[in-house]
Amino acid sequence: MQRKDGMRSDNAPKRWFMGSDFTRHVAQAITQYGPISRTALSQILGLSQGALSRITSDLIYAGVIEEINDSTHGPGRLPRDFTPKERAERRGRPRTSMRLRAEERSFVGVSVHDTDVSVIVVDALCHELTSCHTESLVSTEPQAVIAQIAGIVNRVAASVTPSPVLVGVGIGAHTREGVDVTYAPFLHWDDTVHVSAMLEEACGIPTVIANDLNTLLVYENWFGAGIGLPRFALLTIGVGVGYALSEHGHPVDDPDNSYGLIGHVLVDNHGPRCFAGHEGCAQCLTTASLAQEYSTILGQAVGFDDFAHDARAGTPQAQTLINRTCFRLGTLIATAQNFALPHTILISGEISFLARLNTESIRSGIRSFRPSQAAPVKFTILDFSWTYWAKAAAGHAIAQYIG
Ligand SMILES: [Zn+2]
Repeated sequence: MQRKDGMRSDNAPKRWFMGSDFTRHVAQAITQYGPISRTALSQILGLSQGALSRITSDLIYAGVIEEINDSTHGPGRLPRDFTPKERAERRGRPRTSMRLRAEERSFVGVSVHDTDVSVIVVDALCHELTSCHTESLVSTEPQAVIAQIAGIVNRVAASVTPSPVLVGVGIGAHTREGVDVTYAPFLHWDDTVHVSAMLEEACGIPTVIANDLNTLLVYENWFGAGIGLPRFALLTIGVGVGYALSEHGHPVDDPDNSYGLIGHVLVDNHGPRCFAGHEGCAQCLTTASLAQEYSTILGQAVGFDDFAHDARAGTPQAQTLINRTCFRLGTLIATAQNFALPHTILISGEISFLARLNTESIRSGIRSFRPSQAAPVKFTILDFSWTYWAKAAAGHAIAQYIG
């Protein structure tokens, strides 16, 4: 069966439209910066007005974008350091902008984390169309996990118009070619699991999968704090420590990225010993290590949740560990900054709320490992929730579908 946009509905492709790399760059830029004028777009992309007009005409014909009056929509976010060279428009001629027809497509985002799965549906600009549904996994056996995810996806997707065209899965695991999970220790998966194929068969919607750190990086690039930044890094703290780098709008990719390469970088000579025998490596920024260190401070065995509770309450013992943790995080930020030279470092992860409790100690940690003449390091602590990460998984799917 053919739909009016020419796509087959029984085997929907994982892309919105056919086109050259230039066409995809234009669609991506309109997604990120829109609504945006043709003049600004041609300046950002280095395309002539004529070339750009031909491309935008194709995208309008394909139903991907539309031309709108500037007065009806607020301006989008333009790249940092962008200086418009637009001439004053002729009197009486309305200014127009290009925008993505976000309402024409919907996407499902799935975050698989710890023992839970969170599912959300968004439009093509990653705006929420449903609330986030979270369930505890009833089993970690691959068939059971896929069946449970499919059940939630089918329920959630049935309530949305238009029907979702793509499912994006983000998982704290090693993935391959956007379709398979090859190693997921938290689910005890040692062998390859064909997640995309299995989920696609179970819910009838094409599926892409990626390591959740990468999905968040892409989401920030397209829809969040990384829009228009030439280079930024992402640090996550939680059950593990994660690091990813974005360069000119794309992840700096490597097959080994999802093995947590930064997890054992030295951050404190006097820090606790990790399971691998290092003293003061970045593992001291994880929940297990913090629970252990807090237990030592209190002289009794407690869990991470006890520390989190006391940290929010501001008890003196918790404050001691918050100060240390923030200083150590600052050290890690300085290390990332000194090697990768990003414009900004984004901080996320389950326990990133700790970073908000003492940003001054973070800055002290950074200063200890930066020459005094060097510019201050810019960092942003992102709001963390599994809803946000489910949206990130959807955002990654959108990037695949458009970019
Ligand atoms: Zn270590």
